[in-house]
Amino acid sequence: MPGRPQETAIASTAMDTRLAAFVATHRRLLLLTGAGCSTDSGIPDYRDGDGQWKRTPPVDYRAFMADAAVRRRYWARSLVGWPRFGQARPNATHHALAALEAAGRVELLLTQNVDGLHQRAGSRGVIDLHGRLDEVRCMGCGERSAREALQQRLLDANPAWAALQAAQAPDGDADLEGDFSAFVVPGCMACGGLLKPDVVFFGENVPRERVAAVHAHLQRADAVLVVGSSLMVYSGFRFVDAAAKAGLPVAAVNLGRTRADALLSLKVEQPCAQALAFLLDGAGAAAKTQ
Ligand SMILES: [Zn+2]
Repeated sequence: MPGRPQETAIASTAMDTRLAAFVATHRRLLLLTGAGCSTDSGIPDYRDGDGQWKRTPPVDYRAFMADAAVRRRYWARSLVGWPRFGQARPNATHHALAALEAAGRVELLLTQNVDGLHQRAGSRGVIDLHGRLDEVRCMGCGERSAREALQQRLLDANPAWAALQAAQAPDGDADLEGDFSAFVVPGCMACGGLLKPDVVFFGENVPRERVAAVHAHLQRADAVLVVGSSLMVYSGFRFVDAAAKAGLPVAAVNLGRTRADALLSLKVEQPCAQALAFLLDGAGAAAKTQ
């Protein structure tokens, strides 16, 4: 954006007064959050400080729908990864953003995460841009069911897999490799159809009405605050792009590069919890009531 001063990242030890000032100045914030919010809850993220993949990219929508072997591998890894993912608890970042909403300052919390931790921390005005991993959808009849209930069916059909342990991977996945050919994938209880986690896979579009709802909130916001996202995925980046084009100031808290760096009026390169700590202490309360 020409004419908008680009502030340099502040040192990680510095007291973060500029972010507090940004929050104090703008009354209706649209928050956009990503994986960096949930790493403190033990959920790994996909990308490094340059926004590059740290690991094998996640499952592709078309491959999942077309290939039973891809689905066997997905659900086998999910069976192993789900228990820890399902037990993850919100951390200080989630609580700080919930406090900001309780203070009446949040137009919308738009999250790219699928873990539901913002809601568990008390945030109410949330749009899960990429869906929720704790729900499963039948691609045949559209019926939704709880991922927790499917876990029991997966275990019943594949008892030998219950004892397997593997490192936690993003999105409830586990770093498990091997022969998945004997793994049994249960179908929909109602119609026998293909089950898919109710999340937007890579190569899949965000539902149009969800995108429209975010744009409607953006019209009512007076600034955007990005927390813990490199914005490398277009589905989230487009809202920051739209905000910048509409002249809204955009601040970001993220360790490392973001796709929107050139659009930012403030960039804070600190861990999310550290950068947002002011929202949970006395100084934050003062900032909120200014
Ligand atoms: Zn069905």
